[in-house]
Amino acid sequence: MIDSHGRTLQDLRISVTDRCNFRCLYCLPETEAALNFYRGRWANAQDSPAIARSWTPKASLLSFEEIARFVGIACQRGIDKIRVTGGEPLLRKDLHKLIALIASHSGVRDLAMTSNGFSFAQHAQALRDAGLHRITFSLDSLRPEMFRKMTGRDGLKEVLGSIGLARALGLKPVKVNAVIIRGMNDGEIPALADFARAEALSLRFIEYMPLDSARAWQKDMVVPGREILALLQKHFPLQPCLASNPSETARRWRIPGSEAEIGIIAPVSEPFCGHCNRLRLTADGQIRTCLFSTVEHDLRDRMRRGDSDESLSAFLDQTVWLKEDRHHIGEPGFQQPERSMSCIGG
Ligand code: SAM
Ligand code: SF4
Repeated sequence: MIDSHGRTLQDLRISVTDRCNFRCLYCLPETEAALNFYRGRWANAQDSPAIARSWTPKASLLSFEEIARFVGIACQRGIDKIRVTGGEPLLRKDLHKLIALIASHSGVRDLAMTSNGFSFAQHAQALRDAGLHRITFSLDSLRPEMFRKMTGRDGLKEVLGSIGLARALGLKPVKVNAVIIRGMNDGEIPALADFARAEALSLRFIEYMPLDSARAWQKDMVVPGREILALLQKHFPLQPCLASNPSETARRWRIPGSEAEIGIIAPVSEPFCGHCNRLRLTADGQIRTCLFSTVEHDLRDRMRRGDSDESLSAFLDQTVWLKEDRHHIGEPGFQQPERSMSCIGG
């Protein structure tokens, strides 16, 4: 599938729920710690960010069969990389059954999941047996107090346990995402990299994007990728890795003497839209052609009114053609999407 800017789409991110058991400061900032952080920095000088959110009702969610049907159609059109995400995907009951359905499509070359890791231990073996290849966990801090501020939950022990368990199950490489926010966890950049070095992890530092449900994001909360890199270079003799394909979002480095890999994802300060090969499906069956799309394309209603596979495939092609050339963060008139990262699927 090629869009009108000449990009070939291969990567589909599927959100299976918008619910979450965490309240990350950069995603669902509904905790006292989040309000304290944003208070005073809030652009409109309001006392606290407004939260207007309700979970999607179950009947509106795509069923596993509906998702798997779409995966089959998308694979026939060239998608070969699938990532299951959310919200917190492990909150979706019997998720391993969906993983098995997706894995059964021969076109799926890479099947990964992103999770906060809190309840991974209860599901790990079933997910592995169902055919999950890889997993990414979110880990923004190694200090229990900061972890709680960042996620709204006392879960550091569980997430560290999940990282070890994923490795033991052979879900390699285990990846870890850390969103860095100035004035919160930016002091932990070297410690997180050192943890990755010691545990041979693939760590990704991610710039904070304007996708929080409170719309409290401010540019000065972003620690630019270049600054993260300069800091890391003071502590580690980083060696650059060659990009394995042009659509890679992370610039990557190795730490000599370790299997760890450090990546920096800088969508705000160094956008990579020109090579973006991703498509997203929300839990309620809307196709999104960009994280920052302001329009969505309704797959669910087409499926539920009985459209054929051929017709859905044609709809997918038409939708892909409309993929935006780039996001407009930082430009006058930039509009944050109505839905937050927890609904869109990261
Ligand atoms: N709940 C799972 C988790 O946190 O790993 C999966 C969904 S979460 C939306 C997927 C990824 O998006 C996480 O790694 C999270 O850190 C990242 N994310 C969420 N909000 C973000 C934001 N405003 N800017 C940058 N990354 C964000
Ligand atoms: Fe939940 Fe993931 Fe969003 Fe955190 S980033 S609130 S874990 S969906």
